[in-house]
Amino acid sequence: MNQNRSIVHMDLDTFFVSCERRLDSRLEGRPILIGGTSDRGVVASCSYEARKFGVHSAMPMRMAKQLCPEAIVLRGNTGTYTKFSNEVTDIIKENVPMYEKSSVDEFYIDLTGMDKFFGCHKLASELRQKIIHETGLPISFGLSINKTVSKIATGEAKPNNEIRILNGTEKPFLAPLSVKKIPMVGKVTYKSLCDLGVKRIKTIQDMPMELMHKVLGKNGLVIWKKANGIDNSPVIQYHERKSISTERTFGQDTTNIYKLKGLVIAMAENLAYQLRRGNKLTACITFKIRYSDFQTYTQQQRIPYTAMDHNIIPIVLDLFKKLYNRRLLVRLVGVRFSHLVEGGHQINLFQDDETQLNLCKAIDKMRKRYGDRAVINAAGMEAKTISRWNPFTGEPPPLLANRHQ
Ligand SMILES: [Mg+2]
Repeated sequence: MNQNRSIVHMDLDTFFVSCERRLDSRLEGRPILIGGTSDRGVVASCSYEARKFGVHSAMPMRMAKQLCPEAIVLRGNTGTYTKFSNEVTDIIKENVPMYEKSSVDEFYIDLTGMDKFFGCHKLASELRQKIIHETGLPISFGLSINKTVSKIATGEAKPNNEIRILNGTEKPFLAPLSVKKIPMVGKVTYKSLCDLGVKRIKTIQDMPMELMHKVLGKNGLVIWKKANGIDNSPVIQYHERKSISTERTFGQDTTNIYKLKGLVIAMAENLAYQLRRGNKLTACITFKIRYSDFQTYTQQQRIPYTAMDHNIIPIVLDLFKKLYNRRLLVRLVGVRFSHLVEGGHQINLFQDDETQLNLCKAIDKMRKRYGDRAVINAAGMEAKTISRWNPFTGEPPPLLANRHQ
């Protein structure tokens, strides 16, 4: 594997807060909380001034308000953040050969080979200054030989700074840091590691790989590699996808309302799952129906950004009800989500309804483990041939037979 790669990880600092400050400079220097504003909401983003009070993202909003009563609380606006995110993306796109957009405010850039001409560090520094200058948004970066080390380096550089980890110094750089800083170590893994007495990355570096494997399984192996600064994963060129859709032509035209409704629910459910899996949200739903006389009708509706079943399915059913009004056999139905934006895993936190959010998370987890149709809406059980394709991995869609029997 190429040990001479130059991978930059760039991350906008307290992104939502910075966007709000761009719109209203009076927010500068004040503690800010952004997220679900109801009592059951969660903090999606908070300023460094608020963090001093012990507030962090994903914390219940009620607790954050108690810790920092003088904070200004904002509901947040996904459309605004998307606009700023696109501005930054455009600057990066114009200035580097290859980049990956891993969330609404995070990018990986592969500068391998650029050294001969410019010097990668200089190039990354200039790009960072350009972004700050042109958008007014603070951004930090880490530069190293791979994605993991660069991402951790960005975390150490923040706020509004940059760090370069020289080739060969990855292990000593990581050694003193908390194991929490390894990107894939969440709450549960952190606890397991603490139970083993492992708090610093150095301890993992000193452990034999087999031991980590034994204790934490496959995950243990990946964590061990990351702790040792080993990560061969490539930067995957970003292609924006603006919509996803699915449609079904019936083998035999139908007027069976139960069958139609079930299929429509299954389609909406599957597309919503694909959104969440790709960390995307939609703001526009379109429904299409074609009757046996080939007359085709579509109707669309704008909605607040979401990827949640309970927001999406009722809208789709409503559009279906509106369009299914001719006493004629139905030949085809289709559902499309458009106006897609990046960053579902962060923006999900705006969701005030924690119960629905947790339900979706639990269902997705089971699907990831046991397959796309391990858990489905009972109404859609009959619909057996919904696509399993992931539209956000850059792979082409599978060729599906157009007319299912
Ligand atoms: Mg960020």
